[in-house]
Parts: sequence; C-alpha cells; structure tokens
Amino acid sequence: MFLALALGVTAASAAYVKYGSLAPRSQLYGRTLTQGKDPRQIALTYDDGPNHPYTLHMLDCLAKYSAKATFFLIGKFARQRPEIVRAIHEAGHAIGNHTYHHPNLNLASPARVRRELLDCRNVLQDLTGASHPLFRPPFGARLPHVLSISRALGFTPVMWSAAGDDWKNDSADLILNRVSRAMRSGKSARGEIILLHDGSNWGFGADRAQTVQATERLLQQYSGSKSFVSVPELTI
Ligand SMILES: [Zn+2]
Repeated sequence: MFLALALGVTAASAAYVKYGSLAPRSQLYGRTLTQGKDPRQIALTYDDGPNHPYTLHMLDCLAKYSAKATFFLIGKFARQRPEIVRAIHEAGHAIGNHTYHHPNLNLASPARVRRELLDCRNVLQDLTGASHPLFRPPFGARLPHVLSISRALGFTPVMWSAAGDDWKNDSADLILNRVSRAMRSGKSARGEIILLHDGSNWGFGADRAQTVQATERLLQQYSGSKSFVSVPELTI
C-alpha cells in the first residue's frame, strides 16, 4: 500500500516536472513569453532553420504580404548557410537563438547549456553584425537551470500559444486547422505566437513545402484583420 502510494506520488511529481518544463504555456519554472496582449497582432515563428530552399521560399511568401516573422536558428546550420541567415536579417525579420546543436537542454549540464547558447549567439552575431537576444529552447525543454542560465546571459525565452505540429509532415490543411483551433481556443484575447518550422533539427533539406503553403493561407486569411509582426514588435 505504502509502496503503491509512493509510486503514485513519484509518478505524479514526474508528470508535474514534465508539464512544468515542457508544456508550452507553463510558467512553473519562471516566466516565459508565450503570447502578446494585442489580439490584432500575430507573431509567426519558425524553428530549426536555416533550411534550403524552404527558408527562402518562406521569405518570398512573407514578403508578398509585407509580413514580419521570427526565425529561431540552429547555430551549426547557420554556420553552413550564412547567405540564408543574412537574407532573413536583411528582410527585416527577427532572428532568435535555438542553440548550436539542438540538444534537449533538460538533460544537459549547466556548462553545456551555456556553451550551446554562446556558440549559437557568436555565429548569429558574426553573420549579421547584430545581437539577437531571443531564445527558444529546443523541444520547449526548460528546467529551471535552462531558464536561469539563459536569463543570466541576457536572453529572453520565447515559447508559443499556438502550434501547427508541422514537424509531423502533415498537409497544409492539417497544419492550418491546428493553428486555427488553437487561435479559437484563445478567444481572440491574445496576440498569438505561432510555432512552425522552416527546417528540421535532423538535418538540411527537410521538406517544408506544406508549412510554406499553410503560411500563405494564414496570411491570406488574416492579413485584412491582423498584423503579422516579429516577436520584438509584439505588444506585451
Ligand atoms: Zn527545434
């Protein structure tokens, strides 16, 4: 009985830790930016790039609607495709830090967390000549040491309020449905931060054509009523 109870408590604590450190909107381990205050704004965010050719296709698509977005880049990919990083920066989009190798930081030592953030920061600064203080933890994993180290280094952790789960390689329809459903559940009371992917942490060349299509349809659907802004432009 005692053992069963103890196991139950352990399982419950494990679930609590998992929720607190992974659920996108949990604030258990410290405040992270998950949404804006102005429901007329939408912040599209793209993780795991740069990725050829889909990051460039995404830039074309955003430019057609004069939309601004935020790209959370993986340092080692940025190092390999500097021209794509510069194209993002020159088009006026925000760039954020998504670590150098994309590890699960919940499993990393404090020294490794620091190294991942600094190595990515140095590449992005070298390539653009600017500093990029936004940080999105890979897999959304952020135990307290991840958040405290990132803040000590001057980063703002950014999560999301709506996700397309486009890493599952589903159709543009499905991606769009997931985002729309999440937006409806917010009852239009928030400025959404939408999580999408222009690349994949597995490597270059991931097919993100469906994400480009879903983005185009989001822009068509909401350009009349909302403004598409980068995370630094979001009213918080
Ligand atoms: Zn990622």
